[in-house]
Amino acid sequence: MRDLLMIPGPVEFEPEVLQALALPTLGHTDPAFIAIFGRALKRLREVCLAPSAQPFVVSGSGTLAMELAVANLVEPGDTALVVNTGYFSDRMVKILERHGAKVTQVRAAPGDAPSVDEVETALVAGGFKLMTVTHVDTSTGVLAPVEGLVRAARKHGVLSVVDGVCATGGEAFHQDDWGADVYLTASQKAVGVPPGLALLTAGPRALEAWRKRKAPVASVYADWAEWLPIMEAYEAGKPAYFATPPVNLVYALDVSLGQILAEGLEARFARHRRMALAFRAAWKGLGLRMLPTSDAVAAHLLSALYYPDGVDAAFVGQVKAQGVVVAGGLHPDLKSRYFRVGHMNRVGPADLLAAVGAVERALVAAGHRVEPGAGVAAAESALVAR
Ligand code: PMP
Repeated sequence: MRDLLMIPGPVEFEPEVLQALALPTLGHTDPAFIAIFGRALKRLREVCLAPSAQPFVVSGSGTLAMELAVANLVEPGDTALVVNTGYFSDRMVKILERHGAKVTQVRAAPGDAPSVDEVETALVAGGFKLMTVTHVDTSTGVLAPVEGLVRAARKHGVLSVVDGVCATGGEAFHQDDWGADVYLTASQKAVGVPPGLALLTAGPRALEAWRKRKAPVASVYADWAEWLPIMEAYEAGKPAYFATPPVNLVYALDVSLGQILAEGLEARFARHRRMALAFRAAWKGLGLRMLPTSDAVAAHLLSALYYPDGVDAAFVGQVKAQGVVVAGGLHPDLKSRYFRVGHMNRVGPADLLAAVGAVERALVAAGHRVEPGAGVAAAESALVAR
């Protein structure tokens, strides 16, 4: 029997998206494929609410999307401010430094996010070229105050790069309205497509900064100069080649982005919020403590939860034995003390109740004193209350 995949990515995907992967592969310059790719690019721009941005769709994972942003915006000696909320912000620091940036960080304790005021103070002091922020840090389930941060960067003339790998298509984000310069993401989470695509939307100020750079981009594969003509050609309905696109993943992306737009972005953000609140009610009902220090900094696409006393990392296997796959901890300081449940993309009441039920049964199996049904009942109450 197939387990339900409830990790923070990859996640459960819609059958229409998976079916697109099994279609015969067209040549990458076939007019039928060009039309699909062109439509996927337009849809990506819509999903990021970024009418003025240039979308990029490149074979690779989210880490490549991070590098696609950094390699093109950073020249050796440039200064960058990293709003650090965990493991993936640390990765951003590594990539920035590898490309020659001098990095300053504003950090919060694990489970918390720096405030907009703290970051603004650093922005005023710093004279930075760019600021990066992880929209949702998947290692801790922390949601950064991204709108305020991006607006602050804009106010102080600093380019903003937002890592939306664990957010895009699930957490509210308005790239153009908020003035974010780059939004980067990947296919395998709330975008709803199996792993393999690095996605990025670059706004006009980011493109201008890239055009003005003096040092060559220190990667051929990540260089916007290679990809921009390709993306422009596909959107204009013309053939182009730099590196072979992942044809079937592009079909799948087009299908999923079409589904996201059909659901409606606001409705989709609201569904993720509704499910997150019901999950939180369930965890409370089970006496589990969340890693984010307050609801204000808790993401809506995953829950990070401390193991209760007497329960350890073997718990992830015990939940799997109940038919649901959850993930262990990832933040280096706390790794063995918590687990994570993803709730994004096609998550609804059915998957929610299945996941909560599995956690509940696994707690009982682990010898933890818990009233069977307490979590499910709390989730049900939250669901019917709305
Ligand atoms: N940023 C965030 C916020 C992520 O959650 C992840 C992946 N979990 C990445 C970057 C890296 O993406 P990938 O694993 O696809 O390279």
